[in-house]
Amino acid sequence: MFRMPTRHVPIAILGAGLTGLCAARTIRRARGACRVFERSRHVGGHASTIEDQGYRFDCTGHLLHLRSDALREEVLELLDGACFEIDRNSVVFSNGVTTPYPFQAHTHGLPPEVAYECLLGFLRAVQHPPSEPPRNFEEYCLRHFGAGFSRHFMLPYNRRLFGVPLDQITTDWCERFVPRPKLEDVLAGAVGLENSRLGYNSRFLYPKLGIGELPRALARSAGDISFDASLVELRPERRELVIGSELVRYETLVSSVPLTTLLDSIRELPSEVAAARKRLRVTELRYLDVALAAPPKRDFHWAYVPEERFPFYRVGQYSAFSQEMAPPGGSSLYVELVDRKPPDLSRLVPEVLAGLCELGVIHSASDVRFVRARHLEQAYVIYDAERAPALSVIEPFLESLGVISTGRYGAWNYSSMEDALRFGSEAAERALVRS
Ligand SMILES: Cc1cc2nc3c(=O)[nH]c(=O)nc-3n(C[C@H](O)[C@H](O)[C@H](O)COP(=O)(O)OP(=O)(O)OC[C@H]3O[C@@H](n4cnc5c(N)ncnc54)[C@H](O)[C@@H]3O)c2cc1C
Repeated sequence: MFRMPTRHVPIAILGAGLTGLCAARTIRRARGACRVFERSRHVGGHASTIEDQGYRFDCTGHLLHLRSDALREEVLELLDGACFEIDRNSVVFSNGVTTPYPFQAHTHGLPPEVAYECLLGFLRAVQHPPSEPPRNFEEYCLRHFGAGFSRHFMLPYNRRLFGVPLDQITTDWCERFVPRPKLEDVLAGAVGLENSRLGYNSRFLYPKLGIGELPRALARSAGDISFDASLVELRPERRELVIGSELVRYETLVSSVPLTTLLDSIRELPSEVAAARKRLRVTELRYLDVALAAPPKRDFHWAYVPEERFPFYRVGQYSAFSQEMAPPGGSSLYVELVDRKPPDLSRLVPEVLAGLCELGVIHSASDVRFVRARHLEQAYVIYDAERAPALSVIEPFLESLGVISTGRYGAWNYSSMEDALRFGSEAAERALVRS
């Protein structure tokens, strides 16, 4: 009879992204025993960096906007000074001009009729707010930004980013990530006053060798990690996991793999949980790594591209975050694509390069050394009307099984790397109490 090799771990952690690594590190520091199981061959998950021919690429822009001073100190210590503190220099390409981001605070420099439409719409929205609160993200934009800003930036850009109609998206995540414009900022931006500090992401930390340095540093104190160790089955009643071809017996389980993956690994889900799981939606993302033999043509970190004629909605320059992201004299870009289907590169790449030339991002297509298509299966959890009711069924179910599912995809939310670090240490505290 075949018996699977069996391992016993007091605390099993699924996933070696920032959440899982931070959980493991916290447990080890408290002298607890744990092991991390990671599907891929490296740590970092969405916060990974790959290297190719001297060029370094993250999974699109990953910048550390740390609000907690304590966490900031910890991250600086982990990176041992090998990181930059950077003031945002991001722009919007629209209506044939380049304006600083955020769009609503920089109408100066737009064609006058566009600036007028934006200002008029904003003032009307402020003066005559509807009596009912906005029911969805589209209404939130119209209500707080007005018709002009919505038409020229907020609606087309966010439609392209999320890949779903904005009237399907709720407003419960907006207060933090989509701050309402203030009258004084809009007016200052209309007459060209300095306004570049606005928004949650105006200053950020970035490791010299790419964001992957952060999980690599965390992994040094996270203890044992099994790689190529994919979750196949969770048998929660028996506190068993099948990981690859190994049976793992655990006392406490912390999972940071996507909630959908975790639920799909349980054989007979109660029908109401199976129905709730089907209601969870997430947007995938396809993007391009672009290696250039020339330095950047324009000086910006990342640019928003709301206009539909371009096949990409955002482009960023890793080598503007750190020159070490490209070999001397070169530069490296990410280009986030609107289309979620597998790209036909022979058609798409010339179109993208023509767009980048038109926007003045690159000098010429002949500067390109290579382009590679990349794919994130999970990018943005969709906050639609189904999400909260579905989670209200799934969360108590997992709780009843003693499973802690956390992280951006483990808890099915829209959150940052700072949150992931926090989720990881909070999950560790809970796991330590239980074990
Ligand atoms: C396009 C994009 C841009 C972003 N930009 C920023 C930014 O600028 N700043 C910021 O703060 N945040 C940003 N984020 C958010 C940030 O990436 C996440 O908050 C953070 O990386 C989440 O970490 P995590 O550990 O929770 O999840 P993940 O990084 O997804 O880690 C989960 C891990 O589980 C592993 N796994 C999956 N399935 C299995 C399985 N079956 N078995 C075993 N292991 C498995 C994965 O390989 C992965 O390593 C961005 C996210 C995206 C998508």
